[in-house]
Amino acid sequence: MTNAPDPRSLVGRTAVVTGGGRGIGRAIATELARAGANVLITYRENQSLADAVARDLQSTWHANVRAVQCDVRSGQDIERVMTEVRQSFGALHILVNNAGMTADNLVMRLSEQAWDDVMDTNLRGTFLACKAALRPMLKERWGRIVNITSVVGVAGNPGQANYAAAKAGIIGFSRSLALEVASRGITVNAVAPGFVQTDMTSGLSDEQKEVIRQRIPMGRYAEANEIGPLVAFLASDAASYITGQVINVDGGLVMN
Ligand code: NAP
Repeated sequence: MTNAPDPRSLVGRTAVVTGGGRGIGRAIATELARAGANVLITYRENQSLADAVARDLQSTWHANVRAVQCDVRSGQDIERVMTEVRQSFGALHILVNNAGMTADNLVMRLSEQAWDDVMDTNLRGTFLACKAALRPMLKERWGRIVNITSVVGVAGNPGQANYAAAKAGIIGFSRSLALEVASRGITVNAVAPGFVQTDMTSGLSDEQKEVIRQRIPMGRYAEANEIGPLVAFLASDAASYITGQVINVDGGLVMN
């Protein structure tokens, strides 16, 4: 028996999870809190959901969790969150860029607005939050950034060219940033879920869901709680030598 600390523990670490009030973000915040981290979750408009998550994680895991409004398209909002996390918890060690949205259409019918909304939320938001997190992480000489991309950004998907472009952009961005900060104790990885049962996919028709399901080797969608454990692992000391990677969590949908 050894008394060495568990390298998967996040006790003493502070995390920000964007879009942590529901879906995959909620599941990620849960795993980080379960591992002992202080967590600040952000929401864009669903305050009551985010507050309920904070209360739930506090009572279940005795974690320090706060919910804060932040539109990731706004550099000002993101700077405010970074200030608040340091005021509340003293440092920032872990950033999970999870906030995202879709606005699907075939390219022939895709509006400039739908292109801009999806790029701004998924890609620009990720850039802005990473940029704002770097200074506090460099100060700590330790940092973990996990950006949530999608298998759609790896393989493409008809009707989702804007979303695929944004998610592929996150992959190139994450690898570039990983190279920039690799020598400073900061890792940057991307997690690419396949199709997950959340509000984002609930709008698909039963027929569309069935077509997708048949393409998935495991024959089912993921539950949101099947994404969180990998993110918590990548955020821990146990993943200290993993950086610049894109890890699919997709039931075997995309194998590369
Ligand atoms: P979801 O249930 O639709 O939740 C989206 C989350 O993002 C919400 O918390 C929402 O906040 C937040 N959000 C959206 N726009 C925002 C903005 N401008 N500023 C701040 N927060 C914003 O989505 P999900 O399925 O959990 O997806 C989470 C992430 O996983 C996304 O990046 C998505 O692209 C990715 N992903 C999802 C799937 C899937 O099949 N579901 C697959 C691959 C990747 P509010 O609650 O306040 O609106």
